Amino acid sequence: MAMTILVTGGTGYIGGEVIDQLLARGHSVHTTVRDKGKSEPRLRARWSDAGERLAVFEADLMSDAGWAEANAGCDAVAHVASPFPLAVPSDKDELVVPAREGTLRALEFADKAGIKRFVQTSSAAAIAYGQPEKDHFTHLDWTNLTAGVPPYIESKTVAERAARDWVATKAPTMVFCSINPVAVFGPVYDDDMSTSVELVKKIIDGSIPLIPNMGICVTDVRDVAQAHVRALEAPAEKVRGERFPTSEKFLWLREMADVVRARVPEHAGKVPSRPMPNWLVRLLALFMDEMKQIKGELGNVRDVSGKHTEQVLGYSFIPAEQTIEDTVRSLFAKGIVKP
Ligand code: NAP
Repeated sequence: MAMTILVTGGTGYIGGEVIDQLLARGHSVHTTVRDKGKSEPRLRARWSDAGERLAVFEADLMSDAGWAEANAGCDAVAHVASPFPLAVPSDKDELVVPAREGTLRALEFADKAGIKRFVQTSSAAAIAYGQPEKDHFTHLDWTNLTAGVPPYIESKTVAERAARDWVATKAPTMVFCSINPVAVFGPVYDDDMSTSVELVKKIIDGSIPLIPNMGICVTDVRDVAQAHVRALEAPAEKVRGERFPTSEKFLWLREMADVVRARVPEHAGKVPSRPMPNWLVRLLALFMDEMKQIKGELGNVRDVSGKHTEQVLGYSFIPAEQTIEDTVRSLFAKGIVKP
């Protein structure tokens, strides 16, 4: 049955794909943006056929303004918006406070509007950190904040914990679940890209001359969006309280570079083939923010399983190799990376 769903953060990479799939399935969408004047024309251009099935509201995670209007008339919420910057802020509260308060604000206004289903875009960041003894993780694992983790990791863990505690105490009949993606890649709509896609861009545009000894789990933005859509549509008993990691495969960056060379050779001219020694990463980390983040990940395996999600939500993820290929092709097709 067609529903009206509030998707927060409609300007974002994942939010945009969730809206895309919801509209394609016949649902109506309310979405929040921070600057309606700037963002609504872009959203209307992307979904030019949606007409009244798409309504855009101005609402910031840090303010109550606009949230009651955005929730009015909705059946369910996909809460996707959260800060996801490239650089690590010097003050962790720049991320932790909006992630936590924004999630609680979204929950409170949804509850006041009588909404009974709430899907939170959490992250594998809330699963796979602060446990140096482990390298394989499932939906049952939680990041250990007492170990001291980077601000973004903390922000996602704190936000998911806060949401679960809030639902348990304030709205126990609400059907709540989280989607916990690993690094999200796949086709991009325009050059307003997510931080995750920047990594593939840097591998193919020549900004990384050598490959650091680092790996990540890969998931496709279309699979992440599909998990949201299925979690919104599934029977309540199937999704209540669940965590749904989306993750296809763990790949070392050198393997990602190999995938580009094998599957998109015409765009692989600037893809590095030689390893970056760990000592060089540590040296560059003294003055380069991105290297600072890589430094802590050298040689680490964080393999998050998405099997539970495939089984419960009933679909199979796009192979990581296909996702990498589609990311590269779309970055060139949109002119974001020049040949
Ligand atoms: P994105 O493209 O940067 O989108 C982030 C969205 O959040 C944007 O719509 C942004 O709005 C909105 N937002 C940020 N701060 C806000 C605030 N104070 N008030 C209102 N809206 C705010 O990133 P994304 O990759 O789509 O990420 C979306 C969600 O997925 C986030 O919760 C992120 O933590 C999670 N996630 C992402 C990945 C990944 O690899 N991409 C992996 C796991 C989880 P503006 O356009 O106004 O900035």
